[in-house]
Amino acid sequence: MRSSNNMFDLTTQDITYLPGVGPHRADILDKELNIRSLHDLLYYFPYKYVDRSRIYAIREVNGNMPYIQLKGCILSFETFGEGRQRRLVAHFSDNTGIVDLVWFQGIKYLAGKYKTNQEYIVFGKPAVFNGRINMAHPDIEPPSATSTSPGLRPYYNTTEKMKRTSLNSHAIEKLEHTLLSRIMPLKETLPAYLLNEHHLIGLNEALQNIHFPKDAHWLSKAQLRLKFEELFYLQLDILRYSKERQKKYNGFVFNRIGESFNTFYRQNLPFPLTDAQKRVLREIRKDVGSGKQMNRLLQGDVGSGKTLVALMSMLMAIDNGFQACMMAPTEILANQHLKTIREFLHGMDIRVELLTSSVKGRKREEILAGLLTGDIHILAGTHAIIEDTVNFSRLGLVIIDEQHRFGVAQRAKLWKKNTTPPHVLVMTATPIPRTLAMTVYGDLDVSVIDQLPPGRKPIETIHQFDNRRDALYGFIRKQIQEGRQIYIVYPLIQESEKMDIKNLEDGYTHICEAFPECRVCKVHGKMKPAEKEEEMQRFVRGEAQIMVSTTVIEVGVNVPNASVMVIENAERFGLSQLHQLRGRVGRGAEQSYCILVTGYKLSEETRKRIEIMTRSNDGFEIAEADLKLRGPGDLEGTQQSGIAFHLKIADLAHDGQLLQYARQAAQKLIGLDPDGTHEENRTIWTQLKKLRSGNTNWSDIS
Ligand code: ADP
Ligand code: MG
Repeated sequence: MRSSNNMFDLTTQDITYLPGVGPHRADILDKELNIRSLHDLLYYFPYKYVDRSRIYAIREVNGNMPYIQLKGCILSFETFGEGRQRRLVAHFSDNTGIVDLVWFQGIKYLAGKYKTNQEYIVFGKPAVFNGRINMAHPDIEPPSATSTSPGLRPYYNTTEKMKRTSLNSHAIEKLEHTLLSRIMPLKETLPAYLLNEHHLIGLNEALQNIHFPKDAHWLSKAQLRLKFEELFYLQLDILRYSKERQKKYNGFVFNRIGESFNTFYRQNLPFPLTDAQKRVLREIRKDVGSGKQMNRLLQGDVGSGKTLVALMSMLMAIDNGFQACMMAPTEILANQHLKTIREFLHGMDIRVELLTSSVKGRKREEILAGLLTGDIHILAGTHAIIEDTVNFSRLGLVIIDEQHRFGVAQRAKLWKKNTTPPHVLVMTATPIPRTLAMTVYGDLDVSVIDQLPPGRKPIETIHQFDNRRDALYGFIRKQIQEGRQIYIVYPLIQESEKMDIKNLEDGYTHICEAFPECRVCKVHGKMKPAEKEEEMQRFVRGEAQIMVSTTVIEVGVNVPNASVMVIENAERFGLSQLHQLRGRVGRGAEQSYCILVTGYKLSEETRKRIEIMTRSNDGFEIAEADLKLRGPGDLEGTQQSGIAFHLKIADLAHDGQLLQYARQAAQKLIGLDPDGTHEENRTIWTQLKKLRSGNTNWSDIS
């Protein structure tokens, strides 16, 4: 390995090039941490830092202190206990007092390694046991070994397996130290003007200080620089990608507002549009008239009236001689769309059909033919729409409902159905925190319906422990007597589907017994579509008063007379899922309720989730809270794209402001240097190319 140069590529340089890493360690690093190249190691950052500039006197130490450092000698060793209880104790003193250093593992090795009457620096968390101060499994080293890091000491995550082979945090620290000393200085990856403008330190200083901060101040400078860079390139990639796509594809021009739209607006529309719906329609109209392909994300809370906006956009397509389709994640939803659309378009000369995998034989052929001739104007359906056998005459607009269940690759597949790609409107009822919208959907323009149709009463959300069933059932009974309908939802508890259905069946039997006077229907994902549909219809028609189901009803079902949503084992649902489920009620004029039923013992996180749900009806607020509670890795949408796993240092839950700056900087850059020809930006384009060719290809995900 060369001592210092910019010529070789860290990303391709195998980790075994580093002194201290043989094939065995390389194998462990690869398997446990995915570290293969020198670059991987360099960007494996500490998860915490501890101030080691101060050494405490033992007389000052008490059991409430955090990790601290002591300096002294081991007076003597003792072992206690047998078998698993066996422990090694070293009596450690600095002439102001004594602490016991305790180890439960590696006893033989440790007793041989450390000597009495020799000076050591000990680092650990003090605790009090039987009136004596001890430290369990402290770090212990001769004073000389710690002189490399006078400031904050880094701590790296390692796995159990790594610790067993003594590849612990300290070992990683040493590797990082060696690595840094060999590869510095690295070539700067951001141009000077950006560093100045955003008050960022240079790459070498940042990397040095992220691993071995001089002090807290330098640590935060290093973090800022590296986070900014990560977010900047992420945004730049996304924005470049969408720009390139725009250049490559023209869009159909819908420049007429014609007969269908106007007839619908004047004659069929049963209520005035909300201001938010009007605004979004204007935004869409501007897009589809621009000659560019529309890629728009429409966010709106459950019940905000997205379907209507979708429908009116489809009418714009039809008025300009195009077909439109609307995709839903489930058959139930697709069916519901078909029905809603047909009802809205009642009496108008527009042909609407349904295509799902259960549409077969003659009917299917008829539909495929109708799409080819253009006789069918609107197609509602599921994934079945994007199969290769489905071809349109002139597909101009695609609506994707409930995006978070729809793979990114599937979205891309749609564009390939025509030489000119259709306009795309993605609708989601799971409001996405701004930071995620800018990354996961960063190439989409965003519209928001931030207003519910008038007259809706806010849903009242109540938390109920499951040992208070009498009260709960009494409440349900009263609602039913008033003519309302009830949903009762069971979560997926077991891994096996069979067990989940059993869970639901038990609930069903129980409810039937508890409400002998009521008719109860039952829906779960494993039922045959026809059977499922029949059960749903019994509820929709009002023949059943209670619907017991799994989360298949999470999206889309619309029964305005349903006024109570009971969620069993609510602790097992995520926030956004709870919010979605709650959105099934509160669609009519009556006061509606959501009842979250949980066990008595709740974790801190569950308690917070329940608290947010009972306090807020605002989907955006809930989404932000969800992001903070769970971190971006667990949010729907991010899992699909894997984006959270790509980020090495920035954190979408907490770095929203910085993300904003990074995005602005990327936007400005593209605006000023659209073709990437400016000399001062050469570093940037080279770096972006490098990132794209590596596995961090953001354009894959947007
Ligand atoms: P979502 O945004 O959840 O898809 P929907 O489109 O299903 O919401 O709308 C929920 C309900 O509100 C539907 O019954 C719909 O007909 C009704 N609705 C939509 N827009 C309006 C409006 N402007 N005024 C009154 N009701 C509306
Ligand atoms: Mg909807």
